[in-house]
Amino acid sequence: MELPATVKLVAVSKFHPFESIEQAYEAGQRCFAESRPQELVAKMKTLESRRIELGDPSYMSDVEWHFIGHLQTNKLKMVLPHVSLVESVDSVRLLEAIDSWGRANNLVSNILLECFISRDETKQGLSEEEVSTIIADKEKYDFVNIKGVMGMASYTDDANVIREEFGRLAEIASMMGENTEISMGMSGDYPIAIEMGSTMVRIGSMIFGDRN
Ligand SMILES: *Cc1c(COP(=O)(O)O)cnc(C)c1O
Repeated sequence: MELPATVKLVAVSKFHPFESIEQAYEAGQRCFAESRPQELVAKMKTLESRRIELGDPSYMSDVEWHFIGHLQTNKLKMVLPHVSLVESVDSVRLLEAIDSWGRANNLVSNILLECFISRDETKQGLSEEEVSTIIADKEKYDFVNIKGVMGMASYTDDANVIREEFGRLAEIASMMGENTEISMGMSGDYPIAIEMGSTMVRIGSMIFGDRN
């Protein structure tokens, strides 16, 4: 898979064993994403055991984790200390909870605002209007760094629909100024996402194979 130098590859390792992550790491991949708090914590523990087993505390120390799944406010402590980016902030309530958790624990979190751009009712995300409000109020979130947006296109073969939805996400991102991250594109639609201005693609099955 060839990506332009401006696009970061996030390897989505959910449902795959830690050994698969190690293999990708050996091949040079540094950024991985998980979607379930329990699974993230389990993988952190496995990494810790590997370090002890190898007698090498710095084993894989330059690995970076993103969180990309739905995050419940009672699971913040399982996720926030371990990740460099929460890509899936899909409600104002969650944003506020991350900010107050950060205030209480003195931890600033980098986040993306997950926007609802698709036709699929099952998908989550903020409306364009909610994003505008958050941006206007962003000074009040001292413990949150809003780095950009994330979105998922409809599950369809129609490239025009996907192009239009990613275009809308890029438009929302343009309200947020320069250097805004736009996380869009998965195994099935990343070429269109890149065409529409993605800065970060989240690829799972194309790297690790099918999930069961
Ligand atoms: C699982 C997942 C991906 C990766 O999907 P693939 O089709 O396997 O590339 C990307 N983004 C999110 C939010 C996911 O949950």
